[in-house]
Amino acid sequence: MTALNLLEQTIKVKKYRNSLFSSCTWVLDGGWLVDCGDVEPLLPLLDGQGARGVLLTHGHFDHIYGLNDLLERFPEVRVYCSAWAREQLLNAKLNISFYHETPFVFDYPERIVVVDDGTRVDLGDGNAVTAVATPGHTPGCITWMTDDALFTGDACIPGVRVVTNLPHGDKQLAMRSLEHIRSLAAEGRTIYPGHDVDPSVLTTNISLSSHPNRAPHGEIL
Ligand SMILES: [Zn+2]
Repeated sequence: MTALNLLEQTIKVKKYRNSLFSSCTWVLDGGWLVDCGDVEPLLPLLDGQGARGVLLTHGHFDHIYGLNDLLERFPEVRVYCSAWAREQLLNAKLNISFYHETPFVFDYPERIVVVDDGTRVDLGDGNAVTAVATPGHTPGCITWMTDDALFTGDACIPGVRVVTNLPHGDKQLAMRSLEHIRSLAAEGRTIYPGHDVDPSVLTTNISLSSHPNRAPHGEIL
């Protein structure tokens, strides 16, 4: 896979497969992560540049359990997520870790930045990603969109039925979000899901939107 549009800035994306439930952390050049599980083995993928921010797809514990470790190591990191995911970060029952071996509660609420549908997050160098609300798997699922990539978390995992039978799941909403994601993918975007269903994908390039005023709506953070 290569970037589609040479006029846009492209960056490298690496996949890390976490030890818990094969959830994925996607590492974007510049120190940005999509979701955060194991931290120690992830560090070499950051190429010594450290971490700058985490874009959360949602707040289930298999996508967040490394956050305290990461934020302790990198004081400048902010976590970008929906208001619902913020609640999950701060509540072990909502993030479901309570029902597993190690309850997880996020220790740094002051470093959370809440995003809405359409919010654009500035990754530096004039590049941005856009939050797209894709609820259903949880009420606060976010798909992070660039010009040619969709980081969908558990809202869309190709070949896998969307899980909606966890607390607060909503099948109808999930189906609507799936259609939305498919329409965005049909415009030429590749889906990078929240669990590792395609081990052949290790490293790729994506294009980032380089013109903030191209945002359909929403503010830039
Ligand atoms: Zn999930």
